[in-house]
Amino acid sequence: MATTLDIARDNPNAQTITPLRPVEVMGEDKPTLVGLNREELAEAMASIGIAEKQRRMRASQLWHWLYVRGVSDFSLMTNIAKDLRAKLAETFSIARPEMVDEQISVDGTRKWLFRFPPRGAGRPVEVETVYIPEEGRGTLCISSQVGCTLTCTFCHTGTQKLVRNLTSEEILSQILMARDRLGDFPDATTPQGAAVPSEGRLVSNIVMMGMGEPLYNFENVKKALLIASDGDGLSLSKRRITLSTSGVVPEIFRTGDEIGCMLAISLHAVRDEDRDILVPINKKWNIEALLDACRNYPGLSNAKRITFEYVMLKDINDSNQDALELVHLLKGIPAKINLIPFNPWPGSQYGCSDWERIEEFADIVNRAGYASPIRTPRGRDIFAACGQLKSASERMRKKDREALAAG
Ligand code: SAH
Ligand code: SF4
Repeated sequence: MATTLDIARDNPNAQTITPLRPVEVMGEDKPTLVGLNREELAEAMASIGIAEKQRRMRASQLWHWLYVRGVSDFSLMTNIAKDLRAKLAETFSIARPEMVDEQISVDGTRKWLFRFPPRGAGRPVEVETVYIPEEGRGTLCISSQVGCTLTCTFCHTGTQKLVRNLTSEEILSQILMARDRLGDFPDATTPQGAAVPSEGRLVSNIVMMGMGEPLYNFENVKKALLIASDGDGLSLSKRRITLSTSGVVPEIFRTGDEIGCMLAISLHAVRDEDRDILVPINKKWNIEALLDACRNYPGLSNAKRITFEYVMLKDINDSNQDALELVHLLKGIPAKINLIPFNPWPGSQYGCSDWERIEEFADIVNRAGYASPIRTPRGRDIFAACGQLKSASERMRKKDREALAAG
């Protein structure tokens, strides 16, 4: 925990890979088929004149190619007639975003910077996605927005104004790109290749814990996660998909009811006066309202617990009294408590609690019967840890600007 920002950032062992250009990079011109649900895919088939009785079959074929085989090029869809493939390619896009940067941490964590073309009159946007390999599983941390409307005082993303919501295509593309880069799709050039069985996959878990507040982009997040968990496609179990919210209370029930994924709550404080400052959305929906929504989360049980995230901020929220109140607050809610050592960023006003303090806090929570893993900071050397996102793209732009200024 003594890792300081500068030492970590300047780690000479962190690798940077020269970006590879995927087969097809998204343009601005054609409508995409990625991120459409089955009905919309069938409608897209209708729009190019496919007979009604063939539409569902064609939509299923496309679904398989897009999400089981992971292709980004119509010409690889070998069970579709050549002229139809050509027609599809002329009309639609299934291309990937541009990969602007890929960094691999000394601990194996990877961070990608993806660029998506403008939507409407907007500008291209850049999004960060992080992959965290662990013993027996690999977790992909994906973004739901560029920037955030909220301003949690300990979070770097919170200092970047909302640029825009990501579309369902852009949310899903982060999963598709990560699987491409990790070699987690079957070899697309082998027509008979089978899907990678879920046990053998590198991306086994998804967390909506990247940039943005997913419940302020509910419809797109829902659409993307329902496609990601579809059993005939990417086939990620809903038990392995976790959505983290700062506490958008009115959308919490729908998250369980309509998406059915696991829920994580960014709690971070046990008293309203403290949470009002750390997580300002608390002024709208306070701790009591938030915990009521948690108690009513569909499917909540000991087998399907809510994760409460708690960032450890030195002398702010880390006393034994805080730990005791935390335990008291969560009484009766099937819960796990995830203690997150604060990850500093340039200009942040907080410090991370000392390691002994975190352990004592964890002991109190543990003794009360809650699992309370301390989240090991991952990928700090590449600035990929919780709450540090945004910086890479900003830093790069600054570097670009400086290079330009130097002529
Ligand atoms: N907006 C959502 C999801 C993204 S943040 C939310 O707030 O839940 C993912 C997690 O990282 C949240 O629990 C967030 O509070 C935490 N986090 C943000 N900044 C952090 C930092 N600097 N150090 C440690 N955790 C941080
Ligand atoms: Fe937004 Fe979550 Fe960061 Fe708060 S912690 S500013 S909600 S991304």
